[in-house]
Amino acid sequence: ATTARQPDVLVVGGGIGGLSAACALARQGLRVRVLERTKEFGEVGAGLQIAPNCTRILAEYGLLEEARSLGVVPEHMVMRDALDSRELTRLDLRDLERRYGFPYMVIHRTDLHAIFLRACEHAGVELLTDQDVVGYENTEGGARVLLRNGRSEFAPLVVAADGLHSVARRLLVGDDLVSSDYVAYRAAVPIEQVRDNGISERDVTVYIGPHCHFVQYALRRGDMFNQVAVFRSPKALAGHADWGTPDELDAAFAPACDPVRRGVALMWRDRWWQMLDRDPVENWVHGRIVLLGDAAHPPLQYMAQGAIMAIEDGWVLARHHARHHARRAAAAGAGGAPDWDAVLAAYEAVRVEHCRRVQNTARAWGELWHVDGVRRLQRNALMRQRDAYDYSFTDWVYGPTALTPDEEPPMFTPIPLSSASFEDPDGALTV
Ligand code: FAD
Repeated sequence: ATTARQPDVLVVGGGIGGLSAACALARQGLRVRVLERTKEFGEVGAGLQIAPNCTRILAEYGLLEEARSLGVVPEHMVMRDALDSRELTRLDLRDLERRYGFPYMVIHRTDLHAIFLRACEHAGVELLTDQDVVGYENTEGGARVLLRNGRSEFAPLVVAADGLHSVARRLLVGDDLVSSDYVAYRAAVPIEQVRDNGISERDVTVYIGPHCHFVQYALRRGDMFNQVAVFRSPKALAGHADWGTPDELDAAFAPACDPVRRGVALMWRDRWWQMLDRDPVENWVHGRIVLLGDAAHPPLQYMAQGAIMAIEDGWVLARHHARHHARRAAAAGAGGAPDWDAVLAAYEAVRVEHCRRVQNTARAWGELWHVDGVRRLQRNALMRQRDAYDYSFTDWVYGPTALTPDEEPPMFTPIPLSSASFEDPDGALTV
């Protein structure tokens, strides 16, 4: 790739957020350059769930069939209790697809990342690796990024998609990461290794239990099986720096039901992910530097919306660019450079509130999943009462991505777990 011509947009970070935004903007005819810190583009980790609010966008980009051919479209999402393995509630994912018009899928992260990488190449995005961005500054008509090697680059717009530990976020907002004291272990193994473990190959299964949960689904056309084990770390609570270690994994899941314990035995033990997020902030736009993806709104992963929100961000940015571009072209004598200030204001107006809702709901969802004692029994009884075809808690997330605050659907408010308002129809609460 050549760096001779000045780009219209610099994207810092070539993760799923950065690449999907780069591809969306390049498809509008903009010259886009991606600056990625690592020596090669790639993704670490295993599976990703992608809900209809993401597959709708993939379809618009012409990438859904490729994703479908590499992933799996499960039949149900089934939630079970991690101690006794009883079913609590389920979503019928075929019916969900009919409701929202697009599938709920699971895909290997590497595959989704590679799809966007290829789409970027086709759209003419300049993809540069080994570019460690260490500074940002707004200048006349745009912004400049500073690289560790001493070079600097300028563009009318700089998109900072540099992830959870974002340098841009540190410099522009300066807030701290928030530790949940939970840690995630992952594993993607050949399906043959788990066939005798009491698994369901056609479903996404989520076991929820006291201070832990465990997620399973088939990947790569059903050839692989993905597992995520998440638990609260006693060492984190005690203030140790080295927390979430494999001995804690085994202890956390010792009381779990047999299918979960069998699954936990297969987790990768050389790497784990401490679960961190940030408090929502309102200001993602700083002159011509804009935060996107985890740099703007890193969630706890309990809604499985982190990568999706990043993809939505790029789509919204590109759609507002298209709208403003069309308006300017229609106005007499206008044209030329995009009105980035208007585009960024429109982006911030709609995305900040949506992502704040998802971040806060993810935290609340985690609390509900991880309750213990009587509250666990209350929750289980409530979940079992839910009509499997009640979509009130998915409509605001899985429906079409809003472009303006007016289009944002009202948010679902979960029922509080208060014993005062709680009825116990089948006497399940006898402790
Ligand atoms: P990242 O993927 O972190 O990418 C940032 C990129 O920027 C990286 O390539 C990095 O190398 C580069 N970079 C960083 N600093 C610099 C720098 N200074 N200069 C240049 N480049 C830099 N989301 C879902 O939608 N569905 C799920 O099912 C789901 N499951 C999850 C399960 C777990 C256990 C976890 C931890 C997360 C899960 N998520 C899920 C969330 C999702 O993984 C993230 O929200 C998403 O990957 C964020 O993408 P991003 O591109 O914003 O950031």
